[in-house]
Amino acid sequence: MMELKQSGVGPNGVPRANGNVDLVVPAKKVAEFTALVDGMEFEVMHEDLGASISAEEEESVSFKSSAAAAVDVTYFNAYHAYADHLTFLRDLQAQYPTRSEIVTAGNSNGGRPITGIHFYGTAAGKPAVVLHGNVHAREWITGMTTEYLAWYLLTNYASSSEVKSFVDKYDFYIFPIVNPDGRAAGDATENVGLRNYISTLAAKQKVQLFIDIHSYSQLFMTPLQSLARGTASAIQAVYGTVYEYGPICSTIYQATGSSVDWVNDIAKAKYTFTIELRDTGRYGFILPPAQILPTALETYQGFRYLLLNMVL
Ligand SMILES: [Zn+2]
Repeated sequence: MMELKQSGVGPNGVPRANGNVDLVVPAKKVAEFTALVDGMEFEVMHEDLGASISAEEEESVSFKSSAAAAVDVTYFNAYHAYADHLTFLRDLQAQYPTRSEIVTAGNSNGGRPITGIHFYGTAAGKPAVVLHGNVHAREWITGMTTEYLAWYLLTNYASSSEVKSFVDKYDFYIFPIVNPDGRAAGDATENVGLRNYISTLAAKQKVQLFIDIHSYSQLFMTPLQSLARGTASAIQAVYGTVYEYGPICSTIYQATGSSVDWVNDIAKAKYTFTIELRDTGRYGFILPPAQILPTALETYQGFRYLLLNMVL
């Protein structure tokens, strides 16, 4: 048995009373497991997790990227292979060449450049908003959602005075896939290139906001309770998706990585958050493609709440 998520497990690894734990059970252990959980409440999330993963991977492959295509919202109808994420970033940048650049934050532990998009409004050099997606490789919804935020802010800059005010006020550094090596590689939060990149930004123009984006569990973790409350209600207002929130150390489960701490300590980011996107375990990491856009749209509303309410 392998534990996937531990929202019902306390910091010392001991299950909490009435908590939830998601488990993968090997096929030959199903009978034994069923006997063990007799009398407990349980729900089957995937009859065959391998088959669910294969089905999603087929959807990814069906995506055909064309060189320098105008990126549009249909991109968010499916998950994509890593190369297509890079094409998406380059195509997006090519559409807004005067307001954006492709940036790399060193190399991954496996030697791949950690690629992101930096964009800005009237002038570059404002306080930085930094987003890291796919800190963990299998959390596919996080790369898609961070890409949506970049796409939304750039495509609406000219038509929305609110979006223009955000992009004029901050420099956005969005890295949709900070762990491009896949699940075998080490933790992206330990990556030297990412650390150095943020430290350099902090020294040069200050880091206003850093969000480490994970899935799944629908949690918003920060010591800043009033902002967390507002963000959670802004997300909930869209489709009713409920996020729990609280400080990382005292709630929920052991933090998914120490990145938020090191951004606080080393780069002195003013606001730091860890978010765990949809869902709460029904599909888990294999969130259906039909939920990409809804997840992205509601997450934008939470992000918007932060952009409107942070103090410079
Ligand atoms: Zn994660």
